[in-house]
Amino acid sequence: MIAVVGGGISGLSAAWYLSRAGLECTLIEKQARLGGVIETGYQEGCVLEGGPDSFLAAKPEALELIRELGLEDEVISSNDSQRVTYIWKDRRMIPLPDGLMMMVPTRIAPMVTTPLVGWRTKIRMGLEYFHRAPAHAVERSVAEFIGEHYGQETVDFLAEPLLSGVYGGSPQALSADSVLTRFVEMEKKYGSLTRGVLASRRNASPGGAIFRSLKHGLGSLVEALRRQTGDRMRVVHGEVEALDPAAGGYRLRVNGEWLEAAHVVLALPAYASSRLLAPFDAELARLLATVDYGSSMTVTLVYRPGHLDHETRGFGFLVPRGDVRFIRACTWAHRKFPHRAPEGWSIVRCFLGGKGHEAVLDLSDEAVLEGVAEDMVRLMGVRGAPDFHRITRWRRGMAQYTLGHAHRVSQMRARLAAFPNLHLAGNFLAGIGIPDCIQTAKAAAARIRAAC
Ligand SMILES: Cc1cc2nc3c(=O)[nH]c(=O)nc-3n(C[C@H](O)[C@H](O)[C@H](O)COP(=O)(O)OP(=O)(O)OC[C@H]3O[C@@H](n4cnc5c(N)ncnc54)[C@H](O)[C@@H]3O)c2cc1C
Repeated sequence: MIAVVGGGISGLSAAWYLSRAGLECTLIEKQARLGGVIETGYQEGCVLEGGPDSFLAAKPEALELIRELGLEDEVISSNDSQRVTYIWKDRRMIPLPDGLMMMVPTRIAPMVTTPLVGWRTKIRMGLEYFHRAPAHAVERSVAEFIGEHYGQETVDFLAEPLLSGVYGGSPQALSADSVLTRFVEMEKKYGSLTRGVLASRRNASPGGAIFRSLKHGLGSLVEALRRQTGDRMRVVHGEVEALDPAAGGYRLRVNGEWLEAAHVVLALPAYASSRLLAPFDAELARLLATVDYGSSMTVTLVYRPGHLDHETRGFGFLVPRGDVRFIRACTWAHRKFPHRAPEGWSIVRCFLGGKGHEAVLDLSDEAVLEGVAEDMVRLMGVRGAPDFHRITRWRRGMAQYTLGHAHRVSQMRARLAAFPNLHLAGNFLAGIGIPDCIQTAKAAAARIRAAC
């Protein structure tokens, strides 16, 4: 028997790739539902995502999986013709300048005219074109890396809000090598990030939308994985409380009973795998426990036609750290993707929490809604209650790729080599996004297939 522990996208993908190889598995999930942080709700014709709402098209693993499941007709693209994001600064919403790739400017005119940064930063951004690669590669935080290239204002008003939307983490703690890998590579090759981005754009084939999703939400990916693995995946709902070596493999204690397995895939947050692996290898458990996780929550507000007294433009906005009270970022879900709401309805998806703001998760729903309502007035001038709402808390849901992360993961992999039938998958190994998780699961399934 093969045991897959964890029924999020990582565990489900591992089960799927095992089933494609003709192998059966038992998937053990402690919650009553599958999907992990993927949680799609439906109400009055609206698709409401409590966790992730999309995935990056540039990383192929999610689209490949969707094709294998026959869901390609369900794929939708973000409305990139409307892809403007606003930053809250000086008590107003300022659009991110055209031609900005993450925090790298590639067009002169929009950068010169934007009130988002001052003249000193603008001049520095221009001079970055002549930046030389450092003589010795040393790991730097995102704040150090972007600060070196474009200055502190770019860290505060671009890097921090943009990355906190993805990781909920601080640029001082996150490792540039791990979260801005492509830009670090560009620096090695070109010295200047602006030159690197311009060169990569010249060589790139014209791509489609940046984000993709599914018409009926990402929950339909979870359902398809469940349905199509069929009899090859037996699902047990219960918490794996212990994992022991046994003759021919391992045994796992679930709901007080022992299950035997030849191979085990731990598709769990690093801290949960750490607890189970402590009796095997204290050092591996210690390394896993050092992966920090951030907590966040989404508050989705839904307005019937005419009930939101605000003209939503672009995809939404970001609030720099210094100005956060409750809302850190906001997406107009009905504008970002088609098929999210009936004509004329508005879905405002607010992100709260993240590093340094986790206390908000302990507030009651009433207190959270009150704080969000105050922010809606402060940030958007929106008064009036939504027609309905949905609040989802994600405690320790976001792996933080902090300084030293890549080194710690390579140490984990080295120690894991001593346990050939034990496999790790999840969002702390190769990237936090859905395609990254699928990639780790696919690799685990391939190793098992090769061994069977
Ligand atoms: C709010 C939010 C928004 C996000 N937005 C995006 C986005 O738009 N695009 C994107 O690509 N990524 C996004 N991400 C990241 C991405 O969704 C996650 O990294 C990914 O879904 C994690 O999947 P996973 O299977 O590795 O982990 P999880 O989804 O955390 O699943 C792990 C599962 O293991 C179970 N479990 C834990 N311990 C045990 C145990 N002992 N026994 C049995 N079961 C156990 C848990 O109950 C859980 O179901 C977002 C994440 C969050 C939290």
